Amino acid sequence: MPEPTFERIRYDVPAERVARITLVRQETRNAQDYRMLHELDEAFQRATLDDDIRVIVLAADGPHFSSGHDLGNTATGADFEPRNMTGGYLQPGQAGGMANEEEFYLGMCWRWRNIPKPTIAQVQGKVIAGGLMLVWPCDLIVASEDASFADPTVALAVNGHEYHTHLWEVGARKAKEMLFRGHALTARECESLGMINHVVAREDLENFTLELAGEIAERPAFGLKLAKMSVNQGLEAQGQLNALHTAFALHQTGHANARAVFDGLPVDPSGIEVMRKLSKK
Ligand code: ZN
Repeated sequence: MPEPTFERIRYDVPAERVARITLVRQETRNAQDYRMLHELDEAFQRATLDDDIRVIVLAADGPHFSSGHDLGNTATGADFEPRNMTGGYLQPGQAGGMANEEEFYLGMCWRWRNIPKPTIAQVQGKVIAGGLMLVWPCDLIVASEDASFADPTVALAVNGHEYHTHLWEVGARKAKEMLFRGHALTARECESLGMINHVVAREDLENFTLELAGEIAERPAFGLKLAKMSVNQGLEAQGQLNALHTAFALHQTGHANARAVFDGLPVDPSGIEVMRKLSKK
């Protein structure tokens, strides 16, 4: 396979059988444009197809893991080789909006969630809205003490970000409060809710994550695959994929309503100030 060239991420193998994918847009707090998501998908595929790799770490440069979707993104699915057989990226109105979000958000997150190898998110600083869509599809999450997690997108008159697994990540009541208030949950809170496996000091984050990845990478690849599939199938037996599709459809309704009502903008202007305040906390 030819070596892909990456602008938004870095791919390395920092330990035996461990691949690491690192977001390298720290000047934008690792905001995700479509190029970054496309590169992430290519990198995950590369690690998945490499039989010498058993565990994949997703990390980020800079003080913050990710500020979410890059609101300055001007690309569409038509600018990249499609990964999910969606099409229709240039259609007007919500038809195009939905097609692009199927391709880059729901489609890619679900692909990453189903990678047949353990994935570990290594998280520091703020994780906001779309940032959660990178962390939650991973199997394990290691966070530094300064990490915080928020989905303030109800301020935009939608139901939350597009990979709507909040219920499974923090439980139903906390999921509702997280969405209603848009406030940030601390790493320790998320650990107590079962969303995070380990909280460590910032200076120990990288080494702790690599040691954990290295330990898991010594175990048989096929056993790891079967263990992961068994837990994931349990989530699907609970209706996770069905619920995701329903939430995604409601999300598109929210966008369509906002476009129709708020001067043609895809956002509720009253929510912008709320979003700003929350992201500064
Ligand atoms: Zn959306």
